[in-house]
Amino acid sequence: MPETSAHTFAKTSLLGMTRAELADALAAIDVPPREIKMRVAQLWHWIYFAGLRDFDGMLNVAKALRARLSEKYTLARPEIVNEQISSDGTRKWLMRMPPVDARDKGAEIECVYIPEHDRGTLCVSSQVGCTLTCTFCHTGTQRLVRNLTSREIVAQLVVARDQLGDFPGLIAPDNGLIPGDGGRMVSNIVFMGMGEPLYNFAHVRDAIGVISDGEGLSLSRRRITVSTSGVVPEIEALGNEAGTMLAISLHATHDELRNTLVPLNKKYPIAQLLQACRDYPGASNARRITFEYVMLKGINDSPAEARALVRLLKHIPAKINLIPFNPWPGTAYECSDWEVIERFSDIVFNAGYASPVRTPRGRDILAACGQLKSETEKLRARARMVVAEDSV
Ligand code: SAH
Ligand code: SF4
Repeated sequence: MPETSAHTFAKTSLLGMTRAELADALAAIDVPPREIKMRVAQLWHWIYFAGLRDFDGMLNVAKALRARLSEKYTLARPEIVNEQISSDGTRKWLMRMPPVDARDKGAEIECVYIPEHDRGTLCVSSQVGCTLTCTFCHTGTQRLVRNLTSREIVAQLVVARDQLGDFPGLIAPDNGLIPGDGGRMVSNIVFMGMGEPLYNFAHVRDAIGVISDGEGLSLSRRRITVSTSGVVPEIEALGNEAGTMLAISLHATHDELRNTLVPLNKKYPIAQLLQACRDYPGASNARRITFEYVMLKGINDSPAEARALVRLLKHIPAKINLIPFNPWPGTAYECSDWEVIERFSDIVFNAGYASPVRTPRGRDILAACGQLKSETEKLRARARMVVAEDSV
C-alpha cells in the first residue's frame, strides 16, 4: 500500500459522524460511560456548530482528553482537488474523500453551490456514479463505483461551509466564540448530484439526521430535498424516517417513453410511482412534491405532453420543474428550443403552477444537473484497478 494511504488511514476523522458514532469513538478511547453523553454534546457543538478543524480550540474539553482525541482522531475534511467558480457565481468542488478502508482509493465526487437572491442551494451526491442508466444523464454513463457513507455526505456540507465562511460560531484567537448573525450562505440542500439517493437510503437518512440537527448544522428538513428517479419501495420510508421534501424525476407522461428515458420505470411504472407520491407522509399544499421534467427536443416536449402532465398530477400537491436539458459530450439528445419550452411552460403555468422553468446554472463549468461525473475515464480506470487488485 502507498505510504500516504497508510498514513491517512492511521487516524479516523470524526467529521460527519452521528451522535451514536461519536459515542462509540469516545468509548474506544476509554471515556467513562457516565461522561459520554456530555462529551458527545461538546464535540457536536465544536464540530458542527463552530466548524472547528482540530481539537485544540475545544475550550470546554479538558486538555488531557483533547490530547487523547488527537492521538486517535482528526477532524480532517475531504481534500478539495479542484474548485471552479462560474461567471454566475455557481461554485463546483471536486472532492476526494479519505479512504474508508485499506482497499479504497478515496472516492472523488462533485458538489455544487448555487447562490440565488433568496437562498443558497448545495447540490450533494449520494453515490459515486449510479447503477441506473437514464439515457439523458451523464452520471448514468458512469458505472457505480460505490455508495457514499453518511459521513461523506455530511462532509460535503461541511466543506461548502468551510469554503464559504459559513459557520455561525466562528472562532477568534483567544477570545472564544463570536456569535454568528444567523444568516447562512447554504440555506437549502438538494440530493441532485451523482447517484440515486434511495439506493443508499440508510446513509442518506443518517446524513440528513446530522445535517438537520438543531444543535449543529441546523438545516431544516423542509429545506432538504431528496430527488429520486422513482425507487417506489423506499419513498414511504424517506417520508417517515427522513421527513424531507421529495422530488421525482418524471420526465415522461406515459410508460413507453419513460421506460426508455428512465429504465427503472420498467420495474416501477408511472401509476405505482404516483400512488407512492399520493401516500407520501407529510405531503400537503404547503409541502408540495416537485416533479422534474427534462426538456428533450422532439422527445417529450409537445403541447399534448404538457397537457398530459397537468392531468397526471391533478390530485397530487405538486410543483413542476422544467429542466432545460444540459448536453454533455457524446449525448444523442438535444435541449428543446426556447419557444418550445415556453409553450410547454405556458400550458403548465395556465394550469396553476408558478415559474416552472429551472434556469440552468454554472453551465460554463459543467456544473448543471446531470453533468456531474468525476472524470469518468479516470474513475473507470480506477474501478478496474480495484477489481484487478481484488482478483490477485
Ligand atoms: N438520481 C436522482 C438524483 C440525481 S439527478 C434522480 O434521478 O432524481 C438530479 C436531476 O437531474 C434529475 O431530475 C435528473 O433526471 C436530472 N438530469 C440528469 N441529467 C440531466 C441533464 N443532462 N440535463 C438536465 N437534467 C438532468
Ligand atoms: Fe442515476 Fe439520477 Fe442520472 Fe438516472 S438521472 S442515471 S438515477 S443520477
